[in-house]
Amino acid sequence: MTSIVLFGPPGAGKGTQAARITDSTGLPQVSTGDMLRAAVKNGTETGMAAKQYMDAGQLVPDSIIIDLIKERVLEKDAQNGLMFDGFPRTVPQAEALAEITEVSHVISIEVPDERIVERICGRYSCASCGAVYHDTFNPTSTEGVCDQCGSKEMKRRADDNESTVLQRLGAYHEQTSPLADWYDAKGIFHRIDGDRDIDQITVDILQALE
Ligand code: ADP
Ligand code: ADP
Ligand code: ZN
Repeated sequence: MTSIVLFGPPGAGKGTQAARITDSTGLPQVSTGDMLRAAVKNGTETGMAAKQYMDAGQLVPDSIIIDLIKERVLEKDAQNGLMFDGFPRTVPQAEALAEITEVSHVISIEVPDERIVERICGRYSCASCGAVYHDTFNPTSTEGVCDQCGSKEMKRRADDNESTVLQRLGAYHEQTSPLADWYDAKGIFHRIDGDRDIDQITVDILQALE
C-alpha cells in the first residue's frame, strides 16, 4: 500500500486537483474534511465531537482524525493506497499515517495568504456530486447547473466565511506548516506553485508524480 498526500492551506486547490488526478493515480481520494462534514450531518458521535472545532475554524483533535483514518484504510478500495486531501495536518497525524501506509509523494500546493480569502469566500460545490466551483475563478458553464452531473442544487460551506477562514489560516501556519520540514527531510516533498491556472497546476502535479 503506497499513498499520496495533497498538502496546502485551506483553499489551495487540494480538492480541485484531487478530482482531476484520481484517474491517473488510480487512488481513491480521501478528504478528512468531507468525512467530518458527513459525520456532522449524520449526527454520529464523531460528528458531534468535531462540530465545535470545525465551526470555530480550529483543528479537530488528532485522536478523532486518526481513528477515522484507521477505519477508512480497512475498506476494500484502500488496498493499493489512498490519495489524502487535507490529512495529515499535524506531526502526530503524520506519524500515525506512517504506521499505516508508505507515503511516496507529498504534493504541496503553495498559495500566498492574500489569495486564500477570495478563494474560500467564492467557493461553492454541487450538492449532488461534490464538484467544486468558484464564483469568479471556476464557475459552472451554465449558471447554477453542475458541469459534471447536471444537478441544479449548489451548496456553500458554513465555515467558508471570512472570519473562520482567518482562523483556519492561523491553524495552518501554527500546526500544519511544520509538517513541510518533516516531509522535506524524508525527500518526498514536492512544491507546486498553486497561484496559477488550474490546468497548469494539474500538469505539474502529474509530472511530480511520475
Ligand atoms: P482546498 O481543497 O485546498 O480547500 P479547493 O479545491 O476547494 O481547495 O479550492 C478552493 C476554491 O478555489 C474553490 O472555489 C476552487 O474552485 C478555487 N480554485 C481552485 N484552484 C484554483 C486556481 N488554481 N485558481 C483559482 N481558483 C482556484
Ligand atoms: P479546507 O481545506 O478548506 O481547510 P477541509 O474540508 O479540509 O477544509 O477541513 C474543514 C475543517 O475540518 C477544518 O477547518 C478542521 O476543523 C477539520 N479538519 C479536516 N481535516 C482535518 C485534519 N486532518 N485534522 C484536524 N482537523 C481537520
Ligand atoms: Zn454535480
